[in-house]
Amino acid sequence: METDPLPRLHAEIRARRDQLIALTQDLIRIPTLNPPGLHYREICDYLSDRLSAQGFVTALVRAEGAPGDSDAHPRWNLIARREGAGPGACVHFNSHHDVVEVGHGWTRDPFGGALEGDRIYGRGACDMKGGLAASIIAAEAFIAAFPDFRGAIEISATADEESGGYGGVAYLAEQGWFDPDRVQHVIIPEPLHKDRICLGHRGVWWAEVETKGSIAHGSMPFLGDSAIRHMGAVLEEIERKLYPLLATKRTAMPVVPEGARASTLNINSIHGGEAEPEPGYSGLPAPCVADRCRIILDRRFLIEEGIGDVKAEVTGLLEGLKSSRPGFDYSIRDLFEVQPIQTAPDAPVVRSTGAAIERVLGRVAEHVVSPGTYDQKHIDRIGRMKNCIAYGPGLLHLAHQPDEWVGVQDMEDSALVMALVLADLLT
Ligand SMILES: [Zn+2]
Repeated sequence: METDPLPRLHAEIRARRDQLIALTQDLIRIPTLNPPGLHYREICDYLSDRLSAQGFVTALVRAEGAPGDSDAHPRWNLIARREGAGPGACVHFNSHHDVVEVGHGWTRDPFGGALEGDRIYGRGACDMKGGLAASIIAAEAFIAAFPDFRGAIEISATADEESGGYGGVAYLAEQGWFDPDRVQHVIIPEPLHKDRICLGHRGVWWAEVETKGSIAHGSMPFLGDSAIRHMGAVLEEIERKLYPLLATKRTAMPVVPEGARASTLNINSIHGGEAEPEPGYSGLPAPCVADRCRIILDRRFLIEEGIGDVKAEVTGLLEGLKSSRPGFDYSIRDLFEVQPIQTAPDAPVVRSTGAAIERVLGRVAEHVVSPGTYDQKHIDRIGRMKNCIAYGPGLLHLAHQPDEWVGVQDMEDSALVMALVLADLLT
């Protein structure tokens, strides 16, 4: 590259500060709540209009038949592509456009997009409409500064990340949108913070464990067999054996926060015996021995662990009870699993983003790994695209919280980083 792109990109982005704010506010004001998946078409149309005006060719793709897709709540996705002046690589920015429920405790309008000082408030401000807006401004600024760039820029806004991404990135990856022949670098502007590069995530295994019993009158429990007591034995084994074992397992992955560098297990829910009464029911429960009890396990595992071993730890414990505890019987059902992934620290998109962070912020980029999964899993596994990171503005701990906000300066800085990455990879 002949000249330093930084001053030109800096000027182009600074000139778009008001646009960056307005775009973020507009996106927040479209309440794309998931579940159930509201206003997906509206936000895709809004983005399609904006990006078409900038020379992008846009495609609206409905994930027909995907989990959650229905005529009442269609799963719409937008992919926009801007070709450069010659052949070259394609850099793709992928953001999810859905947001989680509002919840309690807000002191601002969750869909107002209020600007107060440097902060824009609203549901999805940091996770991740601020990141989406920053990537759009980055691309527009880059195109203005380098109209003769080579290769292509893609921006996608996809559905359902908050509920697994099956109506969004997973569907698009299955349709070939993330094939390495058409996309060579992917940046997901999730709120990992402007000086950090997220290389991947830990693995996940969700399973439902059910203990069996037999129903009887509650006044003569000896005539039945309580599935809840059996589950109590399962929980005791988990406390006594599994938790201490998990605490000894540490990963070399740079997972943040620090506590997530060990294996973790959350007992997501427990249900046993009679169903909860309907709201408003004022009667008493009926006296019964519980014949079924279920828990849902949410196990997060490390790149050093195999999923087979992870499952065997739990089934081993259940089999142990089966041989030692009279009447104990169980079933176990897999609900969901994702392998851990970690992009190589010397992958091109990591190196380019690291260099840009150093230029813009004057500090060495921190490499991190997310405790939970996000859409990179589908890009990696279904799309077979390994050169992928999450990088974007916003503070991760504000995601899904009341009074969620994103900082304007943070968005501007990370937009400049993204624009520099485009200059590095496409000029
Ligand atoms: Zn997110």
